[in-house]
Amino acid sequence: MNAIIFKILRYSGLPWLLRNFIQSNKVTILMFHEFDKETAEQTFSFLHKNYNIIDLNDFIDAIKNNDKTKIPKKALIITFDDGLLQNYEMLPVIKKYKTPLTLFLCSSIINTNRHFWYKHHGLSKPLAYYKTLPNQKRLSELAKDGFIQDKEYAEPHAMSKNQIIEMSKFVNMQAHTQFHPCLPMCEDETAKKEIVESKHFLEKEYGLEINAIAFPNGDYSERDIILAKNAGYTCAITVDGGYNTINSDIYRLKRFSTNDTSNLNELIVKSSGLWYFLKSLAGKKQN
Ligand SMILES: [Zn+2]
Repeated sequence: MNAIIFKILRYSGLPWLLRNFIQSNKVTILMFHEFDKETAEQTFSFLHKNYNIIDLNDFIDAIKNNDKTKIPKKALIITFDDGLLQNYEMLPVIKKYKTPLTLFLCSSIINTNRHFWYKHHGLSKPLAYYKTLPNQKRLSELAKDGFIQDKEYAEPHAMSKNQIIEMSKFVNMQAHTQFHPCLPMCEDETAKKEIVESKHFLEKEYGLEINAIAFPNGDYSERDIILAKNAGYTCAITVDGGYNTINSDIYRLKRFSTNDTSNLNELIVKSSGLWYFLKSLAGKKQN
């Protein structure tokens, strides 16, 4: 059903109008998680043809220096959250297109066989339910379903250290907390540790320059913004929908969720922002 809707929306001309008259003077940030090499090929090829893909750090510099000249027309930033194993498959495509891309890593899950709680098989309740729980309660509820945050499972969910080091020559690697909690549901001490330690660990163990944090699930509170500032991050990325400009709040950068689609119609509709605006009109979240 959605496939038909995306096709109709694509050929309505609305994504084209948005791209050429609205996005033209904005900076669009897209969020992906993981896709295979073929999807990477199709996605990056489309985005390179229709947008000017820039690096997150170049946008941050432009905001800091209030320098519009550093931002091209139809500027677009590609981000991937979580550091999932399949991301490594994209490397040849990233090299081929010289695609600037930012990958947000969970520092206590990469290079281990620990799992992302939201990908755990056998959860007895919908993901949205766990996100409403205080952090300790969430962990105890997940434990009943067999998920333990520190447990090493048979297979990894995230990339290894070697894969990350190799990719980091071509990809901007940044922080996404330690264990992917819902930050606003964490006690102060835990939220601080998740935000501060992920930066320290990635800098110390991986030699990365960490200046950006993407809030897991896009969830954040005012406290989490302050914690990110105090930890030394120079920007933070949300999943609040909308476009960005040189005047955007650098700790509340907006992103469109693009749902790792291999459907080109869906990619065109979602990357233009049309899907988010239609969902907003219907009073719904974008993904
Ligand atoms: Zn995430």
